[in-house]
Amino acid sequence: MLKENLRNVESSMQAACERSSRSRSDVTLIAVSKTKPVEMLQEAYDAGVRDFGENKVQEICDKYDKLPQDIRWHMIGHLQRNKVKYIIDKVCMIHSVDSYRLAEEINIQAKKHQLVMPILIEVNIAGEQTKFGVSKEDAVLLAQEIAHLDSVRVEGLMAVAPYVEDPEDNRKYFREMRQLAVDIQDKNIDNINMYALSIGMTGDYPTAIEEGATMVRVGTGIFGERAYP
Ligand SMILES: *Cc1c(COP(=O)(O)O)cnc(C)c1O
Repeated sequence: MLKENLRNVESSMQAACERSSRSRSDVTLIAVSKTKPVEMLQEAYDAGVRDFGENKVQEICDKYDKLPQDIRWHMIGHLQRNKVKYIIDKVCMIHSVDSYRLAEEINIQAKKHQLVMPILIEVNIAGEQTKFGVSKEDAVLLAQEIAHLDSVRVEGLMAVAPYVEDPEDNRKYFREMRQLAVDIQDKNIDNINMYALSIGMTGDYPTAIEEGATMVRVGTGIFGERAYP
């Protein structure tokens, strides 16, 4: 089941890359494993998956200890400042930075561990009330502010696009994200790079790849529906 799901996701990714003349190796598949038991993650690991996405600090800490050490954990959910210290030495990237104060705390904790944490700026691309992230305008300002923090490295942008039936409805938002990344890159801010674009989920990742995603975060498409307690 899981193996077959993975194969399907892989071939959809491959096809989207071909349609847009991109190399498959330019896009990272992040398997979003939130709420799923470690046995399922192990199964995905055994099938070759190394990048896993989680949205809760506690869950990352629990799973981190039980699974192979070469997994790359991605923090993709809203992060409270007082919890940064628990994951700073466990994750390879924090996708969900949407305030200077959070970036500052990541910087402090990263420095303590003598590491530089790659981060993405989360943009609320459709301006949805229920979503985290900054506006496009504030993303530029936030990048400029964060630039001087030397233990974090801004590597790009992340967005959670609206839930839609037809992925075509999100194409315009993916385009806007790509354009925003280009605009910020063009400002040549020190210490700011825009090569990562973390967009696209189960419902729309092929479209996101066509529009330039370098990371897609696929949960349901790999692990099946989530049951929330
Ligand atoms: C849950 C989640 C995903 C994966 O969603 P699916 O629709 O199950 O693929 C991706 N990104 C974020 C930030 C999430 O919280």
